[in-house]
Amino acid sequence: MEEPNRRTLLKGGLLSIAGMVGLPSLARAVQDATTPYKRPKLRITDIRTAEVRVHGYQVHVRIYTDQGVVGQGESTDAATGNVPLINSFSRMLIGQDPLNIEAAFERIRTSGIFAGAQSGQYVTALTAVEIALWDLAGKALGLPVYQLLGGKVRERVRVYCDSGAREMIPGDERSKARIREIQDMGFTAAKMDIDDALDPARFDRVNWTASNGEIDHMVAKVAFTRELYPKHFDLAVDMHGRYDAGTGKRVAKEVEPFKLMWLEEPVPAENIDAMRDIRASTSTPICCGENVYMRWGFREILEKRAADIIMPDFQKCGGLLEARKIADMAHAYYVPVAPHAVTSPIGMMATAHVCAAIPNFLVQEWHWIDSPELWRNWVKEGEIIQKGYIALPERPGIGVEMNDDGARKAQVPGTPWFEPRRG
Ligand code: MG
Repeated sequence: MEEPNRRTLLKGGLLSIAGMVGLPSLARAVQDATTPYKRPKLRITDIRTAEVRVHGYQVHVRIYTDQGVVGQGESTDAATGNVPLINSFSRMLIGQDPLNIEAAFERIRTSGIFAGAQSGQYVTALTAVEIALWDLAGKALGLPVYQLLGGKVRERVRVYCDSGAREMIPGDERSKARIREIQDMGFTAAKMDIDDALDPARFDRVNWTASNGEIDHMVAKVAFTRELYPKHFDLAVDMHGRYDAGTGKRVAKEVEPFKLMWLEEPVPAENIDAMRDIRASTSTPICCGENVYMRWGFREILEKRAADIIMPDFQKCGGLLEARKIADMAHAYYVPVAPHAVTSPIGMMATAHVCAAIPNFLVQEWHWIDSPELWRNWVKEGEIIQKGYIALPERPGIGVEMNDDGARKAQVPGTPWFEPRRG
């Protein structure tokens, strides 16, 4: 009789386990594992763009292939100037295999080392391309993007509602109506703004040292809003990275009794030490990162313990795999991730695929409460947020497709709409 070796034992063991639990397809997969996998062969043939303006300016990208599969991606916020950048990337993409996403990312990133590839618009343009490649890969392989990013650790992704343009003014009926509206929509968390360039208590229009009057107004807004939401409804507060270090510390201290989900960007993004000093001075959780790019940007925040929560924008920071890498790095520091997102339903769903795959996900932003018609008609699938959560689609790729008639209502006048590139 043949001596059992490690391989036959392993194979026999797997087969018998598969048989015991009634999984003939698993047994067959193990059996067939010696046959090389027939990977789809595709080549990129074209890259086209469209520009829209909703909550800020966005660039949408479509990457075409010789097999008819098309991937879609999106960049937001720092998207100004993305179209010529994306056109310049096309020489590094056309003719290439779109399934080697990391290779494409590194080719474009490293070719721009002297052209601004460390942050800002260059990375945002690369982000739109990267997301389109993930959508394409999912469609070519017949799998949702989350599956390609490691599979899901949760079935649905919790979303918080940004209060939109409506300011929270103590006692104001329109503010109360917005707070009711957010709860009626089923959200379990929201964010409000407290920075106010037009506050009458400001003594100087340039310097952002808040006066006592301004700080009193900020605290009153938080107190009013906190009071109207239920006790276990989470509230985040944004200062938009405008104020100086002393103001940041004072506000963080004064809002401690309200047990905020976080205080966002009390100081600008550039000086991580200033953010760290505020975090060290308060029990209010500090969140930052919407203006930070790639692993190297977040490395400093994490190493300096500058944030309790990081908020990379997945339509800016380098893309979906880059977001996964940032999140994994944060996980090593026990720091949760709450993605900044002011993006269309396509970007929201792309973001949700990553959020479904990372253990340290906290909550994802939604910022389109002021554009309900555009929001509902942007993709063929309609509304993607149900009672404050996004359920992950089982369709290949990102799982939502643009409804051009709906999205085109936000087209920037005079710009192309996915028309073939000239030249
Ligand atoms: Mg913000």
